[in-house]
Amino acid sequence: MAQVRASYRPHVVVVGGGFGGLALVRKLARTDVDITLIDRHTYNTFQPLLYQVATASLNPGDITWFLRAVRAKQDNVRFLKGTVSQVDHDAKSVMLEGNITVKYDYLVLANGVTANYFGIPGAEEFAMPLYRRSQALALRDLLFANLENAAVNGQDRDLRVVVVGGGATGVETAGALAEMRNLDMPTTYPELDQRRVHISLVEMGEHVLAPFHPKLREYAKKELIKRGIDLRLKTAVKEVRRDGVLIENDGNQEFLPAGIVVWASGVAAHGVVKDWGVPQGRGGRIEVDEHQRVRGVEGVFAIGDISVNPDSPLPQLGQPAIQAGKHVAKVITAQVSDGRMPKPFKYFDKGTMATIGRASAIAQVRYLPRLKGFPAWFIWVTVHVALLLGNRNRFATMTNLSLKYLLWRSHNAIVGETPYVIANEPKVVSGADIEPVPAKKVARANRKAISKKAQVRKAAAQQTIDEIDEPRP
Ligand SMILES: Cc1cc2nc3c(=O)[nH]c(=O)nc-3n(C[C@H](O)[C@H](O)[C@H](O)COP(=O)(O)OP(=O)(O)OC[C@H]3O[C@@H](n4cnc5c(N)ncnc54)[C@H](O)[C@@H]3O)c2cc1C
Repeated sequence: MAQVRASYRPHVVVVGGGFGGLALVRKLARTDVDITLIDRHTYNTFQPLLYQVATASLNPGDITWFLRAVRAKQDNVRFLKGTVSQVDHDAKSVMLEGNITVKYDYLVLANGVTANYFGIPGAEEFAMPLYRRSQALALRDLLFANLENAAVNGQDRDLRVVVVGGGATGVETAGALAEMRNLDMPTTYPELDQRRVHISLVEMGEHVLAPFHPKLREYAKKELIKRGIDLRLKTAVKEVRRDGVLIENDGNQEFLPAGIVVWASGVAAHGVVKDWGVPQGRGGRIEVDEHQRVRGVEGVFAIGDISVNPDSPLPQLGQPAIQAGKHVAKVITAQVSDGRMPKPFKYFDKGTMATIGRASAIAQVRYLPRLKGFPAWFIWVTVHVALLLGNRNRFATMTNLSLKYLLWRSHNAIVGETPYVIANEPKVVSGADIEPVPAKKVARANRKAISKKAQVRKAAAQQTIDEIDEPRP
């Protein structure tokens, strides 16, 4: 059995090279420890922009960063690719799949979370989550496979993408898909009637982007409807099937046929965590104290999405993970150098933001007034580009987003591989099929039609809400 041995210096083992794990590793650069950073991937994934990869606006390499590059600025760290399957607290070691044991003096669990399907039948089997780079690519390629197939075989039925979950990921994904349909498809897929391509956003609660101020939520809702998104609020997903989604609103069930179902609803701990001998709270998160120490287990910390202090739970976002990572680095530094322990961890909330599409976003940023529209969108782009790891990624993302949003007439989607298209019936293509109708004109007319349809639906939804709100005689 291969074994990675601890050196004479305290050995800090970090599981997960995400926001939290990397922040911790970097903060320990000058501490007298040896660090082993373990991740199942050789790269860090910038999850907030995964949906841009899924909707063909960014390259997967733009949002991923080679974890071994961390050694460029510090030499007390080494990277080990592997998936942690078990932890033995008595032997102070973690076991990786593939027969590798890693000994530790300090262990930091920073392995993030995964999709929560809430036991909804068919969801895990048929819906597509957005947590990993491979999942974003699978979604993008299925999307284009559907479009290419329809371009040859015709739109005998409507194409529908259902996005489940009205949080930031769901809203951003639905918004990007709507822009692709409204602005790109008239140019790139003139064979298809874009009015027969539907994007539905299904949310169980009353609002999209629930944590935001009511005025910002209302703005986001209007922007989604303006883009022709079929918004279904107060609607629960009952079942996901191969060909669509069964939804329920106010006791009425409806089947939405769909070629693609995106799962952007809820998170849970990875199943394997239950074998790690740590206390788990809501959503399977590992319970920690005020210094992110795992309760009841010596020398083990947990940070980021996977951790929760039941006395002061934090949102599962990038900033809490980064700040907790830095805090644990201070705690370890204090312990190995017999220094003073830092004060208990206190999260500094810098704010949150979400984008709906081009020049449209909402932002609640500390020290700034509530923002929406272009100013919020500009801050959103700037912050996301700045937070990316590595200058090459920042530069590439800036270039790709600028080309998309500023020089948007190129319609140059970043595509992958799509399977062969087989015509259902023999098909002959001739030049006579090409109608020289300017794409701009088609787009304008279709946008109006889609938006009008959305308004009718909104009016109907409003009527239903009014009826519900009316006091019963
Ligand atoms: C689609 C999407 C959009 C988001 N948008 C935003 C946003 O706009 N703003 C924001 O603040 N937050 C956003 N978030 C949340 C944010 O990405 C997370 O809160 C953050 O990544 C948490 O950091 P972390 O270090 O805890 O975990 P992660 O960044 O998830 O890193 C966990 C790491 O652990 C590795 N790992 C997992 N299991 C194992 C194992 N058994 N063995 C070894 N390695 C393992 C994974 O490969 C991964 O690299 C978004 C999340 C998603 C999914």
